[in-house]
Amino acid sequence: MILDDILSILKNKSNAKAYTIGEKSYTYAELYKYVANIYAYLLEKNKEKKPVVVYGHKEIYMKATFLACSFAGMAYIPIDISMPEDRINLILGQIKPELIVGDLKSNYKNINQNEIYDIMNKENYQDINNVFMEPEDIYYIIFTSGSTGIPKGVKVKYSNLDSCINWLKEVVKVDRKVILNQANFSFDLSVADLYLSLVTESEHFIIDSKEMLDYDKVFKELRKSNATVAVMTPSYADLLLLDKSFSQELMPSLKKIIFCGEKLQNNTVENLYKRFDKIKIINTYGPTECTFAVTSYEVPRNSKREICVGEPKRDVKIYIVDDNMNKLAEEEIGEILISGKSVADGYIGNIKNKSFISFEGKNAYLTGDLGYIKDGFLYYIERKDKQVKYKGYRIELSDIENNIQQLDYIEKTVVIAKKNLDGKVKNIIAFVKTEKDVSTIKEDLKKKLPEYMIPRIKKVDSFPINSNGKCDEKKLLEEY
Ligand code: AMP
Repeated sequence: MILDDILSILKNKSNAKAYTIGEKSYTYAELYKYVANIYAYLLEKNKEKKPVVVYGHKEIYMKATFLACSFAGMAYIPIDISMPEDRINLILGQIKPELIVGDLKSNYKNINQNEIYDIMNKENYQDINNVFMEPEDIYYIIFTSGSTGIPKGVKVKYSNLDSCINWLKEVVKVDRKVILNQANFSFDLSVADLYLSLVTESEHFIIDSKEMLDYDKVFKELRKSNATVAVMTPSYADLLLLDKSFSQELMPSLKKIIFCGEKLQNNTVENLYKRFDKIKIINTYGPTECTFAVTSYEVPRNSKREICVGEPKRDVKIYIVDDNMNKLAEEEIGEILISGKSVADGYIGNIKNKSFISFEGKNAYLTGDLGYIKDGFLYYIERKDKQVKYKGYRIELSDIENNIQQLDYIEKTVVIAKKNLDGKVKNIIAFVKTEKDVSTIKEDLKKKLPEYMIPRIKKVDSFPINSNGKCDEKKLLEEY
C-alpha cells in the first residue's frame, strides 16, 4: 500500500528535493529524518493513537507530521491558519484531540512550532520499521462547511486514500517531476499533490496562499518552480489567466493541469490551451466524502462540446438516481450517487445525514449534485441544494445564514449566491434585518467564519414573499 511505497522512498534518503516553500527546499533525506523523529515522539506520547490536529500554513512540519501520524497509525486533522478561532473551537470540541501540533492556543496539549522543529531536527534518530496504519483505520479528517453552521468532519480511511492515489498515479502518469500545490492542506484538493509528489518521489512545490493574490510574487514563484504538473481549482486558473504572462513561456515544463472542485468552463480550457501549447488538461470530479475525486477526463484540444467530468475509477460505480433512489437511464438527469472503494467512513460525531447510505449492498454517498451519464461519461450540471463553490471553496449558504442568525441583534437573514449566466457564483449576499451597522456585522462574522465565507451585507426592512409563502429570493436579488 502507499505508505509502504512512501516509506521505502524516504528510506533511500536521496538528496532530491522533496518540498519547496519560499526560499527553502528540503531533500528526501531531510524529510525522512523529520518524519522518523516525529513518529518516535508520537508513539511515545500518544499511546492510544488518538487523532492529532496539525495547525499551520503549509510549513514543512505539517507534511512531516501528517506522514509521522500515518506511519504511527494515528489520524490527523489539518487546520489552516485562515480558520478563525471560534470555528476552530467548534472543530476541537468535536474531536477532542490528544495533541495539537502548531502555534494554536487551546485547552488541549500542544507542541508549538519551536518544539516541533527541535524534535524534527534531532540527528540521532531511529529508522521507521513498523507501519501501524491499517486499511480500515481513519487516515485523516477534513472539515467542510456544514449546513447547520457547524463544520462537518469527513473521516477518510487509509484504504480510501490508497485507492485514490494509485488511481491518480495512472491518470496523471508522472515519473519524478515537480508538482505544484495551490490549496491549503485543510482542503481535500491538496491531498492530490501531497501524496502524488511522495509516491512518485517528486518535488512538492508550494505556493503560499498569503501571496496568492500578489501577481508579482506568484509569477516569480511559478517561473522558479519549473513545475511539470499543477493541481488547482478552475477559479484559481481564471485568476492567473487575467495576467498575460501566465503562459508556457513562464512555465516551459508544465505538461498537465489537474482540475477539481468546481465546474470547468470551456472558456478556461480554451484560454489555457491557447497559452500553453504543451499541456494536457485533466478534469476530475468528486466530493471530500469520496476522497478527493472519483472520475477523470482528459479534455481534448479544440473541442467545443460541453466538458464532462469523465469516467469513474475502476473500483467505484456511479449511478444517476431519482428522489426515490431508482436508477435512471442514460441521459436522464438526476442525483449523482457514488458507491465503492472511495466512499469515506462518514462524518465525525453524530451528525445526522442521509448522504452516507448503502446501495445495492455497497457503501455509497449521495452527492447532492445533479448530473447525467452519456456514452459512459458523467456530466455535472449543478447542485440540488444550497451548497455553492465560491472562489473554489465549498460553502453551505445555510452555514453562513446560521452564523449570522446567531448574532443576537439580527432579526432575520437570507443568504443568496448571485450567479453569472454560466452558473458561476459572482458573489454571496446576506440580506439582513437589523438595527446594527454593516461594519459591526462584518467584524463579528470575521470571528466566526473564514474570510472567503464573509458575504456582502445588505440591510433590508422586509423580505418579499412568493406565492408559496417563502422568501422570494429572485425578487430580493432584483431589488438589490
Ligand atoms: P469538495 O468537497 O470541496 O471537493 O466539493 C465537492 C463538490 O464540488 C461536489 O459535490 C461538486 O458539487 C463540486 N465539484 C467537484 N468537482 C467538480 C467538477 N469537476 N465539476 C463540477 N463540480 C465539481
